[in-house]
This record gives sequence, C-alpha cells and structure tokens, in this order.
Amino acid sequence: MQVLGVIGHPIDHSLSPQMHNAAFQAVGRDALYVPLLVQPDAVQTALAGAKALGFFGLNVTVPHKQAVIPFMDHLTAEAQAVGSVNTIRFENGRMYGHSTDGPGFRAALEQKLITDIADCSFLILGAGGAARAIAAELGRCGAHITIANRTAGKAKDLAYEFAHSEARGMGLDPHELSRAMAAVDVVVNTTTVGMHASRGESPIPRDLLRPDLRVVDIIYNPQETQLLVDAASLGCPVLNGIGMLVWQAAKSWEFWWGVSPPTEVMEAAVRSALSSME
Ligand code: NAP
Repeated sequence: MQVLGVIGHPIDHSLSPQMHNAAFQAVGRDALYVPLLVQPDAVQTALAGAKALGFFGLNVTVPHKQAVIPFMDHLTAEAQAVGSVNTIRFENGRMYGHSTDGPGFRAALEQKLITDIADCSFLILGAGGAARAIAAELGRCGAHITIANRTAGKAKDLAYEFAHSEARGMGLDPHELSRAMAAVDVVVNTTTVGMHASRGESPIPRDLLRPDLRVVDIIYNPQETQLLVDAASLGCPVLNGIGMLVWQAAKSWEFWWGVSPPTEVMEAAVRSALSSME
C-alpha cells in the first residue's frame, strides 16, 4: 500500500483526505491519505520522517508551503515561479517539489467558466499565497492582470513580479477600483473576506459589479460567499473555490502517478464534507 498525506498547521479543516481517499476507493488504488499536524518548527523533521517511513507523496498546506522549499532536491518550474510547494513526490530517496495551485485554478476555470484565458483581462483581489499562484498561472497564459489588495504595496510588488503580462497593482479603495473594474472581464477574489469569520461580507461593493462580468471566488466554505451572491443576483456567471480545490488535487495525482483521478468523485466528496459542516 502507498501512504500519502497532507502536512499543515492547523490540519483538521483539510478536505484533502476525504477527496483523495474517495478517489482511491473509486479506482481501486491501493493507497491511503492521512492528515498530519506539523508544527512550524518541525517541518524538516517531518519531511525526514515521511521519507524514512516510505511515504509515496505529500501535500503541503498553510503555513508550510514556503518552509519546505530548502529541503527539496528538485523544484518544478511551477514551484520555482511561485516560490511555494504544495505537492511532494518521494522517489529514489529524493524529494521533488511542485505547485499545483495555479494549474488547478486554471483547469477549474477552463472546465467551468472561461476557455479563452489569454484573451481576458483579470482583476485579482488579494496578494497573498493563492493570489501569487494564480497571478503566475494567468501570466503564463498571457492574460492581462490587475491586482488589488488591502495592503496596496503588496499588490504592486506582485504585479511588478509579473510585469511581463503588463500587470499593475493597486489598493482596495472603491474609487480606485471602479476604474479598474470597468476595464476587466473577470474578477477573482483571493482575499479571505467572505470566509466563515467574515461571512456576509464582500471585498467589493455590489454596485461595482455588472452583468457581463465573470466572477470567481476561490473560497469554498461557505460555498456561496456574499460576493458570489451579489454577482449571481446581477446575472454574472460565477464560480466558487470547489473547482480549484478539486483540480489542484487532480494535478497532484498527475505529479505522483502521471494519471488523472476521477474528479467527479473528488468533487462529490468535497460537497458531502462541506454539507456535513454546515
Ligand atoms: P493569505 O496568504 O493569508 O492572503 C490573504 C489575503 O487576504 C491577503 O491579500 C490579505 O490582504 C487579504 N485580506 C485578509 N483580510 C482582509 C480584509 N479584512 N480585507 C481585505 N483583504 C483582506 O491567504 P491565501 O493562502 O492566499 O488564501 C486566501 C483565500 O483563498 C482563503 O480564503 C483560502 O481558503 C482560499 N484558498 C482557496 C484555495 C482553493 O483551492 N479553492 C486554495 C488556496 C486558498 P493583506 O495583504 O492586506 O493582509
């Protein structure tokens, strides 16, 4: 049996064990996926332990996605571009680090909302880890990107890093945002605004939305954030974070085994876990 897991702190909230174990069962893969609580000062020890125990692979979640990098023997181009690792493969005593967050976001977008990413202009709200992965991926696709963040300097720094795609950065002030909004096709929320602690709040006022805008919120709990409620009420095509969650996991399978998992089984496992939390 192959053993895999996810390291993070906290880890109880992770839906990855349900997703992967459901997919293993569906395709008859002899594997087990476990949640592993790892303290921030124990990352190196945890990686050495997983290697010694013969783990086949790991996922890495908050707050360890950057911390694991010095211990990797090899980083993929995606991991290098975003400076973070969310998937590790152990092979012949070596650790290979990869990032599937950006590719997972792109796959979800292409499956459910947008087929012409390169021709679209995106406004990314937020400049944290997820925004970074998404900006790198959209930049790689050739999309035009604007980034807006509560701490405007972080948006500007991120935009500067992806300057090849003519990215620009700004704050979340509604006056500043309204001009940028008029020029974009797609808005992507990567801030934490709208999650359980701030349920009912939206990162942007409803009156900045318009019906021809496509609106993505990468939050998946709750499944319908206030931003998506506002957008859907205007008739905007919308997408929540479940697709990104499922597809980043699917891309991990590709990195571990070179095969695609049954994403519909993974999605059903996520929806079932989320509904039991509500
Ligand atoms: P992060 O690195 O901590 O970044 C958080 C971002 O939210 C920062 O840009 C921060 O702005 C902004 N923010 C926080 N509180 C805010 C407020 N009150 N008003 C305005 N902006 C605020 O987090 P992350 O890892 O990027 O994750 C962000 C979100 O994406 C989370 O909800 C997470 O669950 C979700 N996510 C989903 C997936 C998926 O697969 N669907 C994957 C990854 C993440 P400052 O820079 O000003 O602090």
